[in-house]
Amino acid sequence: MFYDPNEGLSRSELDALALQRFQETLARASKSPAYQKKNLPSTLRSLQEVRELPFTLKQDLRDAFPYGFLAAPLESCVRLHSSSGTTGNPTVMLYTQNDLDNWSKLMARCMSLSGANRHDIFQNIMGYGLFTGGIGFHYGAERLGMLTIPIGPGNSKRQGWFMKHLGVSVVHILPSYAFRLYSHLKEEGVDPKELPLRIAFIGAEPHSEAMRREIERLYGIKAFNSFGLSEMNGPGVAFECQEQSGMHLWEDYYYAEIIDPETLEVLPDGEWGELVLSSIHREAMPLVRYRTRDLTRIIPEPCKCGRVHRRIDRIKGRTDDMLIINGVNLFPMQIEKTILGMKGVGSHYIIEVHKEQFLDKLYVKIEMTEEAFSGSLSELEALQKSLTAALTSELGVNPKVKLVERGSLPVEEGKAKRVYDYREKELA
Ligand code: AMP
Ligand code: ZN
Repeated sequence: MFYDPNEGLSRSELDALALQRFQETLARASKSPAYQKKNLPSTLRSLQEVRELPFTLKQDLRDAFPYGFLAAPLESCVRLHSSSGTTGNPTVMLYTQNDLDNWSKLMARCMSLSGANRHDIFQNIMGYGLFTGGIGFHYGAERLGMLTIPIGPGNSKRQGWFMKHLGVSVVHILPSYAFRLYSHLKEEGVDPKELPLRIAFIGAEPHSEAMRREIERLYGIKAFNSFGLSEMNGPGVAFECQEQSGMHLWEDYYYAEIIDPETLEVLPDGEWGELVLSSIHREAMPLVRYRTRDLTRIIPEPCKCGRVHRRIDRIKGRTDDMLIINGVNLFPMQIEKTILGMKGVGSHYIIEVHKEQFLDKLYVKIEMTEEAFSGSLSELEALQKSLTAALTSELGVNPKVKLVERGSLPVEEGKAKRVYDYREKELA
């Protein structure tokens, strides 16, 4: 009945396996210079003791750049990924061949939940490269035996042509891109409902239940939510089954806790808080109590599908200021850093994020200096162009830059409010 026998483990079997893997993880992790500094104990008597272990932060990964968290010889590593949307040092993740094999196996398990199988033809419309999303699904799909098309994102015309002529039945796509692609298909006279398409895996960015249902309706398919992060391999951490009510978090690979982001206390199942993850089945770079900054809860009720692996709820937001714009992660600091280096603009700016036809739109409003404001129209246009280009290259997304007169942006008392995110309101 299950693709992987570990899907069918009982609570006590899962807990025993998790404890054993956590113990192995601690023994391994304590070989890394970064965890030696954290005085990680080398063993654990029960899973109850996990909450006494120190947290690992994204900043720790940056500080230990590049190889401080490496728990295996560098020559045993065969892959490096790097997380997007960071300021300062990027964070790097390393993988041994075993890590890659385990990850592929897990991704195959995730996709099999939806009913996808070796008879399917899979178009992977997600980014390949340093980002883990595309490549993670790619190897998982091949492992599952699907005919895999590594097309990557963009070029809607070609996407549509492939879908129409190759009998594509499964896609992996950003929810925001699914809407853009739909409009394009319609323009080309392709009715997505008439394609053999039956399943979409959607994830990498927050999206509402309403967006999922709309994708399902437009394409006449089932869409499954997929959650992951580079620090935990990439995609495959948690995935929806056919019940489509929360994502099973694979407890034979990851140990999950929900904490109160203020007090850092572990919260009981059912309560909303920050997801903290330990990767208990990784060789090269296992992480202990990694603070994901993602807000969710553990769904206490058992799933109707019979799998005991607990589910997490749809990600509701973040506890830091990271923004996800059409799947690309970025921090407001990156915008500030770019603006401050440019002539003609001051240091006052705000960021607005809107939903326009299900796509995220990023606006950066910046106050000009007085000299720039009294300049000619062509000078203004040149300034706007160079700001747009600099921001696009730093962020990896294309913002709309609006130059405004000095003193025209709202001034807050105390800490400046820079980010105005209207997406949730506009979707409701
Ligand atoms: P990255 O490490 O670049 O793959 O980014 C990982 C982050 O993307 C996570 O920490 C989440 O904030 C976000 N993310 C990934 N999958 C989802 C999802 N299904 N729903 C909402 N946010 C997601
Ligand atoms: Zn289930």
